[in-house]
Amino acid sequence: MKTGKTEKQGKLYVVATPIGNLEDITNRALATLASVDLIAAEDTRHSRTLLQQYGINTEMMSLHEHNEASRIGKILGLLEEGSSVALISDAGTPLISDPGFRLVLAAHEAGIKPVPVPGPSAISTMLSVAGQPVERFCFEGFLSSKPAARRKQLHRLISESRTMVLYESSHRIHDSLQDMRNIFGSSRCCTVGRELTKRFESLYRGTLAEVLHEMALDINSTRGEFVVVIAGAEENPDESVENGRLIMDVLLTELSVSQAASLAARISGARKKALYEYGLGIREK
Ligand code: SAM
Repeated sequence: MKTGKTEKQGKLYVVATPIGNLEDITNRALATLASVDLIAAEDTRHSRTLLQQYGINTEMMSLHEHNEASRIGKILGLLEEGSSVALISDAGTPLISDPGFRLVLAAHEAGIKPVPVPGPSAISTMLSVAGQPVERFCFEGFLSSKPAARRKQLHRLISESRTMVLYESSHRIHDSLQDMRNIFGSSRCCTVGRELTKRFESLYRGTLAEVLHEMALDINSTRGEFVVVIAGAEENPDESVENGRLIMDVLLTELSVSQAASLAARISGARKKALYEYGLGIREK
């Protein structure tokens, strides 16, 4: 790792931009974007709208998932020559489910300490209004687009006691919420944020069963961008329920929901009704 910084070296700013409402940008972010020599943007056409709104004419270069590796050499070269560069993504904070990690890592390795210019992210925006405990939380990014892999990921989170934050797309929000209800149980509390800071901003909050019901009543509820916040599992969960569900997973491959729930309740000591509901959720898929 190089450590010797030169006086001449330029700065790499990592700048947060709005997640929808173009007014959600800090004075410092605007001043930085106006003063750097180059803006490395995830999508230059998309970011031009923001820059035009604020009369910023700084030169842009694209830096996205598919060309990030090949852009690093050029950007580090510019920084070493004394030019300053700002990294932005299409929305929110770069690197958070967005490109930029490889560039930031390469900068550290070259002895250049990136400068954060903080601002919005869908994570903090959503947590500020979700009505869920935020002393401790974990961010799971996007779940897999493949149903089997997604369910596996959710199963791994069954005992997570921190509040969970997930990003989801309009194509998968409904199926993902159904999987969450089946795996975490219909009574787990959840808040869904749609189109935050935008014209059709909506919040749905309740148990997973209630949220699914409320969203089913609104034809537009699966349009746009989504953040999902799920309450963490109880710290000392009723082990009988967890065991009952595991037994159900096996029995349902051979028996009806009712037969499986009866047997699983007798073996685990969990309530038959809870296991029956769990079984119905699985069978719906
Ligand atoms: N870097 C961004 C950030 O800091 O939040 C996240 C980029 S990620 C590619 C895009 C995802 O973030 C969307 O699919 C959605 O899950 C979430 N998201 C971004 N903006 C949002 C908004 N205005 N309302 C709800 N979700 C949003």
